[in-house]
Amino acid sequence: MDAPRWSAVDAYFAERLAPDDVALREALAASGQAGLPAHDVSALQGQMLALLVQIAGARRVLEIGTLGGYSTIRLARALAPGGMVTTIEADARHAELARGNIARAGVADRVDLRVGRALDVLPTLEAPFDLVFIDADKPSNPDYLGWALALSRPGTVIVGDNVVRGGAVVNAASSDPNVQGVRRFVDLVAAEPRLTATAIQTVGEKGWDGFVLARVGEG
Ligand code: SAM
Repeated sequence: MDAPRWSAVDAYFAERLAPDDVALREALAASGQAGLPAHDVSALQGQMLALLVQIAGARRVLEIGTLGGYSTIRLARALAPGGMVTTIEADARHAELARGNIARAGVADRVDLRVGRALDVLPTLEAPFDLVFIDADKPSNPDYLGWALALSRPGTVIVGDNVVRGGAVVNAASSDPNVQGVRRFVDLVAAEPRLTATAIQTVGEKGWDGFVLARVGEG
């Protein structure tokens, strides 16, 4: 199996199960034209996030790392009535573009976009969130896990993206700060008695990667 076939399989399932509509296609196009990195989740991954929001019945969702707002739109559309996604983006240019994409997708009333470094914004947020999606700078993942727990309640779902990194996660001697951030994050998840967690590897249009999925239990 190789990358082009992974992409073809992604396209096969995405066309049937999670097609991008006009707003999502325009959001990706606007981000691409503005030169943002193509680090958005895939359509199928976005649909998985939406399903998790729906399965959890989430009304308060926290996203760390907005980029152009693609995952934010997928999350916002899945909210229970009266729900809100709080999303944090450090790069003002990304945030401005995301604001436009979110407005064009018709979900601006359900998105609270905070511009700033996540570690500055997180202490200003009110708990609890029902679902937390961690998708920003990986070296800060250990701190983001701490904040996700601090802003959680029993039952909160935590998703940490990009934890496989093309298999590099198993290299304890890696000099890549992203790999080390993910490894420390996984160790902290494993050591936290309140968390039940798994990690799922994925292949597809985004290459070989994966995510950690965790649920907060009773303290
Ligand atoms: N969640 C987005 C999606 O799937 O559409 C993709 C997010 S992208 C992987 C990561 C984003 O995190 C980038 O836009 C980057 O500017 C932002 N970021 C990086 N460091 C950050 C920080 N310290 N605080 C907040 N955002 C940060």
